[in-house]
Amino acid sequence: MRTALISGASRGIGAACARALTRDGCRVVVNYQKSAQAAQTLAGQIGGLAVQGDVSDPEDVERLFARAGDVDVLVANAGIALQKLFTDTTPEEWRRIFSVNVDGAYNLIRAALPHMIHQKWGRIVVVSSVWGIRGASCEAAYSASKAALIGLTKALAKELGPSGITVNCVAPGVIDTDMNGNLDEAALGELAESTPLCRLGTPEETAAAVSFLCSDAAAFVTGQVLSVDGGFAV
Ligand code: NAP
Repeated sequence: MRTALISGASRGIGAACARALTRDGCRVVVNYQKSAQAAQTLAGQIGGLAVQGDVSDPEDVERLFARAGDVDVLVANAGIALQKLFTDTTPEEWRRIFSVNVDGAYNLIRAALPHMIHQKWGRIVVVSSVWGIRGASCEAAYSASKAALIGLTKALAKELGPSGITVNCVAPGVIDTDMNGNLDEAALGELAESTPLCRLGTPEETAAAVSFLCSDAAAFVTGQVLSVDGGFAV
């Protein structure tokens, strides 16, 4: 049985990925930062293991992997957003976005690789965003961090291909999760209108793409950015 570790799996897209990869036959490790109860409830429902850890902290990630055991499938999903004018974004805010979104992926992938390289098999999926492709006004830090993940995915796909490890990215559009909870109905309506499929996406629709990229069916797919955005980025 393969072990899948999903960062930020207590809620939203990560929780949907945890359910999907469990259905695919994986033993799932549900990482979370603060939502202990949600993570433990989910782990109980899917027969997985909930493990706390801040992905931006290399020591936390080390502890996370020590609890998880050998990880065959990694979904680097944990992320935070910031809606602010670039000129109002403080150095601390900029650093926090990068430390969770980019350093977090670095810490997780670095911890996962020794086992994957040893067994010459692994699946890594990084969760980027449509804003990493298109850029969003008032989300420069977030957009830059999500674009960095696309560069990381492509570079690692080349570097790790000879080791039998695929590295891909999903780029969700506007997905109905807590992350968009601060947007009012008018803003959400405008985003839906800008989406060719005329609606927000669901965490389950994003998880379906992650599930494919982690599957044996995607064995010859690497270095790709799979948009799950209802056509937003087209
Ligand atoms: P969400 O509902 O806000 O959930 C965020 C998850 O990340 C939670 O499980 C949270 O854990 C975890 N997390 C946050 N900071 C963490 C840290 N430092 N260490 C470990 N876990 C941490 O977000 P979502 O919408 O599901 O987003 C998931 C990913 O998709 C993110 O990378 C996001 O940027 C990306 N994305 C989302 C959208 C969208 O429209 N929703 C669009 C494009 C991309 P706690 O519950 O414990 O706080």
